[in-house]
Amino acid sequence: MRFRVPYQLTEVATILQQHGFKAYLVGGAVRDLVRGVPAKDWDIATDARPEAVLRLFRRVIPTGIKHGTVTIHHKGLEIETTTFRIESDYSDGRHPDTVQYVPTIEEDLSRRDFTMNAMAYQLPRGPLVDPFNGQEDIRRNIIRCVGDPLKRFTEDGLRPLRALRFAAQLEFHVEEATLAAIPRALSVTAGVAKERIREELDRILASRQPSIAFQLMEQTGLLELLLPELSRCRGVEQRGFHRFDVLDHSLLACDVAPRHKPVVRMAALLHDIGKPLVRQKNSEGTWTFYQHERESARLSRELLTRLRYPNTFIEAVCHLISHHMFYYESSWTDAAVRRLLARVGVEAMEDMLDLRRADAWATTGIEPPPDYNRELQERIEAILRENSALSLKDLAINGEDLAALGIPRGPIMGRILTELLQTVLDDPQENTRERLSEIALRLYEKLRS
Ligand code: ATP
Ligand code: MG
Repeated sequence: MRFRVPYQLTEVATILQQHGFKAYLVGGAVRDLVRGVPAKDWDIATDARPEAVLRLFRRVIPTGIKHGTVTIHHKGLEIETTTFRIESDYSDGRHPDTVQYVPTIEEDLSRRDFTMNAMAYQLPRGPLVDPFNGQEDIRRNIIRCVGDPLKRFTEDGLRPLRALRFAAQLEFHVEEATLAAIPRALSVTAGVAKERIREELDRILASRQPSIAFQLMEQTGLLELLLPELSRCRGVEQRGFHRFDVLDHSLLACDVAPRHKPVVRMAALLHDIGKPLVRQKNSEGTWTFYQHERESARLSRELLTRLRYPNTFIEAVCHLISHHMFYYESSWTDAAVRRLLARVGVEAMEDMLDLRRADAWATTGIEPPPDYNRELQERIEAILRENSALSLKDLAINGEDLAALGIPRGPIMGRILTELLQTVLDDPQENTRERLSEIALRLYEKLRS
């Protein structure tokens, strides 16, 4: 089998060859070439030691030299180059205690996780080295461990999650023995660094249908281990027009949220996780979930912090979750739309509308029309065009001005400013210095007594 690879790889491999070294394309790129889809990153395995590679090429960055990895920058292509190695003695199931160089590509391939990831293409023009029948498994859409699954999973507890990530990403099946080993390795997975877990979750969220992975996670115990807040949503039934329990609703919302918006996808996944905690039966015997958005945001903050998500991401997700409970109808007044816009913020509004559509879709199981948000969107645009005040800083008056009127700084002034904003949201005409001064003084008299 012959593959087309970027010319830069051929050049790099030729230089290595001229110095007596071998070079193979390995990892995801080989998997992609065999599947006939475009490859993303280019990883090379070689018998040259990192020091030798550093000497042979002009621009080489020692990106992971302890593990035998350097990155060659060659004519605009970044090529991660790793010396043939195995990893031995994973005493903690997280990090190999020692990295050991080995003489052959076959030994290097034997340390890799799945058969589809354990193939190598000798550069520059083949052959394909495939000691574990990766091609056959790819042809049959199967994810299968190299060697004994339980042994491989206890070496590195991230591998079970990687298997399920690939299941969602490639829409492959996890081979039976591989899947069966996952529950037995949970205690090892429990010790894996959270940053590594997060990277796999991000790749799950970026796949066409993340629920493929989440369902397998539930089935194998990984959901309870890594995202217990979600697994508790199983069996939490809802009222009225809801077709699904909270977990299935959340997974569907995540699937139908825009694929390339991780913030919206994550918010869709987590927007209802507070429901099991606030659920109460009312006097008519139906379930209520008062204030669940607050509880969901609180739990999401905990969960995302635990997984070491960046703060900006956590804030954006929790903001959407805290404000997701609104039921827009055509009968809403302009003031109501303005208040929504003030609460959500102009910057977050588009994401909020995406979440709204995903939530509605996952409630009934029926896809809303593409223009589901159009009317609300047009009203929002009209409001933005009128340039009215949507936040305190847009008011015709500020704290300074209030102080000049004799209103002392402090909590009362804060309440007055908030009231003034509400007034202006109701009626933008009121946003003048004179009117707001009058109203402020009147409020002050009332609040002071
Ligand atoms: P992607 O296209 O999503 O990047 P990938 O297969 O390239 O997928 P990487 O995480 O970039 O995945 O890893 C590159 C290669 O390194 C894998 O194909 C596999 O051969 C090997 N590998 C990565 N992580 C592990 C692991 N935890 N255990 C064993 N082998 C691994
Ligand atoms: Mg990769």
